[in-house]
Amino acid sequence: MSCEVCQSALVAQSLRDGSSLSFCPKCSHIERDLGSAPANHRDAAYGGDPGLDRVRLELTWRGLVDAAPLEPKSRVFEIGFGAGALLARFAQSGHTVGGCDLDQLKVGVNETIYADGLVFNTGIEDVTPPAEGFDLVYGIHVIEHVVDIHKTVESARQLLNPGGRLVLFTPGGDSLSAKVFSDAWWLLEDPTHVRFFSIRSLTALLERHGYTDVRVSRALYDNLTMEGASILRMFRGKRPAGGVLASTWSRIFATLIAPAALVLRFLIPRWRPTLVVTATNPHRIATK
Ligand SMILES: [Zn+2]
Repeated sequence: MSCEVCQSALVAQSLRDGSSLSFCPKCSHIERDLGSAPANHRDAAYGGDPGLDRVRLELTWRGLVDAAPLEPKSRVFEIGFGAGALLARFAQSGHTVGGCDLDQLKVGVNETIYADGLVFNTGIEDVTPPAEGFDLVYGIHVIEHVVDIHKTVESARQLLNPGGRLVLFTPGGDSLSAKVFSDAWWLLEDPTHVRFFSIRSLTALLERHGYTDVRVSRALYDNLTMEGASILRMFRGKRPAGGVLASTWSRIFATLIAPAALVLRFLIPRWRPTLVVTATNPHRIATK
C-alpha cells in the first residue's frame, strides 16, 4: 500500500495492544484500515454535553479567527457544518456564510446559516462554486474522515477567492500524545478517523494542490478532553460502545484532568493532539 499523500510505501506501525496502523516513513502520514467500522457514522462534533460543547465552540471559534483573521463582511464557508453552531457564529458577526454537510437532515440545524442561500446538502466535491468565491473555507475535524483528501482540498480551493485562506483542524498523528498513549489515544476511538496527518504530510498535500503560504501549528485548546479520555481508555479493559466519555462521571474526570493537561501542552507543544493548518489560494482556478 502506498501513502495517499506522497505515494511512498507504507510500513506497519504496531500499537501497544497488538493492532497496527500504516505509517509513511517519508512524510510521517498515518493511514488506518476502516475494518468493520460503519460507513456512515459521523463525528458528533457539537453533540453531547451542552456545557462542554459551548466551551468547545468558543475555543474553536477563537482558534479559527486567530488562524485566519477576517475583514468585516467576509464570505465564509464551512466543510461539514454539523448543527451549524460555528457557522452561525460567523453569520452573527456580519459575515456571509455558506457550507456543506453530506448527512444533514436539517434537524436541529441553526436556521441562521441558510439566510444567504449558500448551504449544500452534499459533500464538498459536489458543491457548485458560486460566482463569487469565499475568503475563508474551513473544516473542523473533517479531513481525517473523508474518502478522498485530494478531492477535498481541490474542491475547497475552487471555492476560494484569490488570497482566500483554507483552515483545517485535524488530529496530529505526529503528536507526542499519540505515541505515549498508543492504542489508548482518544483520537483512535472514532473508527471513522481513517488517517492522521503529520505537519509534513499536511504541508505536502496542500502545496501539491497549489496552495501557498502553508503554515501548520499545534492547537493548545482543541480536544481538551483528550488526556482524560485516553487515560480512561488505558485503564479500562473493554471499551464501552458509546465511547469512553459516554458516562457523566467519565466526562467529569476528563474535565478535571484538563487544567493539568493544558499545562503539559503549554510546556510541550509537541504533545498537543490537534494540527491547525492555514493555506492561501494564490489565484482563482477554473471550476470543474
Ligand atoms: Zn507519505
